[in-house]
Amino acid sequence: MSDTERKTTKPRTMITPGPRSGADVVVIGGGIVGCMTALELAKSGIRPVVVEKGAIGNEQSSRNWGYIRQQGRADAEIPLMVEARDTWASFEEYTGSNIGWRESGNLRLLENPQDVGWYRDWAVKGRAHDIPVEILQPEAISTLLPGSRGDWLAATYTPTDGQVDPVLATQATAAMAGRLGAVILPDTVAHSILVRRGKVIGVATQQGMIATESVVIAAGVWTRRLLADLGINLPLQWVRLTAAETGPVDGFPDIPTVWSRDVSFRRTQNGGLLFAGSSRADIDVMPSALNNVGHFLSTFRHNRQTFRLSVGKAAFRDLRTRLGSQARYAGWEPTVNARSVKRSFEALGKIYPELTDVPVARSWAGYVDGTPDNLPVLSCVSAIEGLVVGGGSSGHGFGTAPASGRILSDLVRSGVCERHDVSPFDLARFQSADFTSATTIAR
Ligand SMILES: Cc1cc2nc3c(=O)[nH]c(=O)nc-3n(C[C@H](O)[C@H](O)[C@H](O)COP(=O)(O)OP(=O)(O)OC[C@H]3O[C@@H](n4cnc5c(N)ncnc54)[C@H](O)[C@@H]3O)c2cc1C
Repeated sequence: MSDTERKTTKPRTMITPGPRSGADVVVIGGGIVGCMTALELAKSGIRPVVVEKGAIGNEQSSRNWGYIRQQGRADAEIPLMVEARDTWASFEEYTGSNIGWRESGNLRLLENPQDVGWYRDWAVKGRAHDIPVEILQPEAISTLLPGSRGDWLAATYTPTDGQVDPVLATQATAAMAGRLGAVILPDTVAHSILVRRGKVIGVATQQGMIATESVVIAAGVWTRRLLADLGINLPLQWVRLTAAETGPVDGFPDIPTVWSRDVSFRRTQNGGLLFAGSSRADIDVMPSALNNVGHFLSTFRHNRQTFRLSVGKAAFRDLRTRLGSQARYAGWEPTVNARSVKRSFEALGKIYPELTDVPVARSWAGYVDGTPDNLPVLSCVSAIEGLVVGGGSSGHGFGTAPASGRILSDLVRSGVCERHDVSPFDLARFQSADFTSATTIAR
């Protein structure tokens, strides 16, 4: 008996999440990708059930910076991001909920000629997709960042980029999906995907089985483990990012979302500043990632300044994830990198010296699901009929989520997506002989 067949043993209870038994589609994961997928499925008349092991949006989708950024995107992602930005811009009107949308523009401060050259080239690509992109001289930077100090060579500015409050945006998406008929089940762990003779037949959850012929895995960093249980390998690295927020700052100007080499920052809804180290990330060493380390070597080699390896409790917790029970998910609250908070706050203080006396109100960390080429997986799984994967957002999947949700919904309904070229996001690419890892993860 194979592992996959062994998982077909029926649990005792059958969940009936509504008037009908079972579900048209089960979406595993109530982050922004799962919720957007559920919203799109519900819009097309399909009734999905979202199972979320905690609260809606409790992992990456509530911890991110909330940048809705077209600027600097990889070629394959540009069309998705243009579509997604337009959705975000009208999302408050569509859902009737405040999501903290501001068309603030995104400003990337540039310190060296290589980066200026890279962004000049990117501006040509962006404009080909009707994204207004400007390359700014230092005087224009001062206009966008009144009162700032800094010695920048230039900047690139995309006025139609923006920001949302990620907590509000994810909740608004789940609520809208619910209004259209999706069933949202928080505090419900999906233990395993049940497969018989190569076809999905259900999902075993802590409350029993949900019968279904269609499953979308949108489980963020846990996507790798759920696929591994089915014998499918997804090279995915857990990357730990730290962010922080000041309390309200009286009289601080309205500024775009900003990204410089040392610090990224934006205004928050409560009048403070959210800030984080732009190119600083921790990798918690985990045994389960070792078999895919070859896929990531070139990225690590080219981004030595960005990644810091950390050996600690995560390695032991990772061994426990093989247990395949609820214990798998316990105790994973990511540790805040206090040094990163200090360094990024100092970098912010160099740009705005008046902020050095403002207290830091809170800090937090989140695990990002990084793929070797820094592109997401939005894909059917050829070996298992009825299984679709939406994971590996690589630290920038909040902005693209409306488009990702539409793509995943198309894949569920017809097995293909005609609105975008999704071949760069295929799960099978990692097995291809000519697969190339990303060398640069952030410009
Ligand atoms: C600090 C930080 C800053 C970031 N900044 C930005 C940014 O500015 N802009 C941007 O576009 N992106 C940003 N990102 C990335 C962005 O947050 C993610 O790409 C996006 O939120 C991914 O959404 P998701 O739904 O795929 O994953 P998640 O939000 O992680 O959701 C996955 C969900 O699945 C649930 N789950 C997992 N396993 C199971 C199971 N077995 N059963 C039930 N539920 C399960 C989890 O509890 C979780 O809620 C940032 C990320 C971080 C951490």
